[in-house]
Amino acid sequence: MESLYPLRFEPIYRCHLWGGRRLEAVLHKPLGPGNDFAESWEIVDHGAEQSVVLNGPLAGTTLHELTTQQGPALLGRHHPQPSFPLLLKFLDAQKTLSVQVHPNDQQGARLQPPDYGKTEAWYVIAVEPGSLIYAGLKRGFDLPALKRELSRGTAELCLHHFEPRPGDCVLVPAGIVHAIGAGIVLAEIQQSSDTTFRLYDWNRLGPDGQPRALHIDAALAVTDFERGPVNPTTPQSTQRPHVSQLVECEKFVWDRWQFDAPQAAGGDHRCHILAVIEGEVSLPGETEALRTGQTVLLPASLPPTILTPRGQTTLLDAYLP
Ligand SMILES: [Zn+2]
Repeated sequence: MESLYPLRFEPIYRCHLWGGRRLEAVLHKPLGPGNDFAESWEIVDHGAEQSVVLNGPLAGTTLHELTTQQGPALLGRHHPQPSFPLLLKFLDAQKTLSVQVHPNDQQGARLQPPDYGKTEAWYVIAVEPGSLIYAGLKRGFDLPALKRELSRGTAELCLHHFEPRPGDCVLVPAGIVHAIGAGIVLAEIQQSSDTTFRLYDWNRLGPDGQPRALHIDAALAVTDFERGPVNPTTPQSTQRPHVSQLVECEKFVWDRWQFDAPQAAGGDHRCHILAVIEGEVSLPGETEALRTGQTVLLPASLPPTILTPRGQTTLLDAYLP
């Protein structure tokens, strides 16, 4: 069996009506022709959606194969897992997404076919003036009130919203209604799940002139009516001056590194997903730098990996708690 090393994967691009070309403009992704590039799935092991290793002797191997065949080396203290538990993507919302909500693990387990729940977090990379994030219900909007506004086509009255700034992080637990507004480019870390219930689509029509399908009953059944408005997290300083913790929840931890001198990553018996947001870093023994918009997975079995930035660099480090 091959020993593991820092793994790079082929991005999986997804096109949707709401996408654009800023994965290229902002994150330097080499996109083909088209104006609807919505998502770049960087790290995924979810059914047929599989990240495939690009570099080194394991090139061509899927993340699921690594998780099931090299679990102890890949996942360390978090082995075993039936599949790789986290999913990282970049997202370009050229138009506002539908208002949606995701189930939690217990609710997801009852689906046919079963899926994990989906708690997700966003790191805002770029915004346009007036871009909005919708997250959580305003205080006082209970189930009857939300149903009333849905029936009137005015569900936005129920939604808390704010104007995000680059560098904001938003934690969206399962059950929180949310929508990413037009003009926002972000990175998203989430449980590896693809179950979305669409609650409201802003009264829009699809390309065929018909409204898109909604899943109102399923969405209302998993909506959290207790938690209220959701705002950006407050980054917490850590013992390492270049690292601030954006999110710590039971599903994942997300740190932001801002640094211009070599620093060690990983080496703590768990795997790390590193994504460069600005600048670039070189890894030991690699000729190709990890550049803006690129992602690497550090397996748990590696000793600390020295990251050498070229100039001021910002990266995100996601891992299991
Ligand atoms: Zn979502």
